[in-house]
Amino acid sequence: MKALLLWIAIAYPVPHTAHTVDRLLPPPQTWVCPAKTFASDIPTRSGSWRYPPNIILCHRGPVNMGRTEKAVGYWKRLGYEFGNIKIAPSDDYGCATGQVPYSTIMIDIPSQGFKMGTHLGTTKTWRNNDTGQIFKAKIEIMSAWGDSERILEHELGHAMGFDDVHHVGHIMNGSWSLGGYGTEGLKK
Ligand SMILES: [Zn+2]
Repeated sequence: MKALLLWIAIAYPVPHTAHTVDRLLPPPQTWVCPAKTFASDIPTRSGSWRYPPNIILCHRGPVNMGRTEKAVGYWKRLGYEFGNIKIAPSDDYGCATGQVPYSTIMIDIPSQGFKMGTHLGTTKTWRNNDTGQIFKAKIEIMSAWGDSERILEHELGHAMGFDDVHHVGHIMNGSWSLGGYGTEGLKK
């Protein structure tokens, strides 16, 4: 037994690199959003904006301008319109307090209440219950996953009013590993 363990130790030396979370690919079975059991196969849209929303990137936020423009471009190609994208200064009141201005999608790192480890991002929308009109939204993404493929695009989909789907390969699939860039049912 001892010889076997020694052989394993020699054959498989313990790597000296520490485990880090800044990998580009999230591990399998990671949820982009809090897992939902009532997701459908075709995207349902439960809200929409009256005017193109502006986007504010909080100073400490998970994504930079380039990453945001890429994700916004994905939705623009589907026919959705956006206002200005700007990076908030480090003393921005809205980012510091979590208060999102009207007509704005704010993107920040998770606030208190975000269940670490079960999902990578979350989106909250404020809307008129009668008309479904969305008047502001807040996207929160763990900073380690801000640059990862599809996560910001997925969360922007929620900010556009879309719900999660089961459809494999679809951008709105709530499971990261079962998702993709599929746009079925999203074109405006
Ligand atoms: Zn989702």
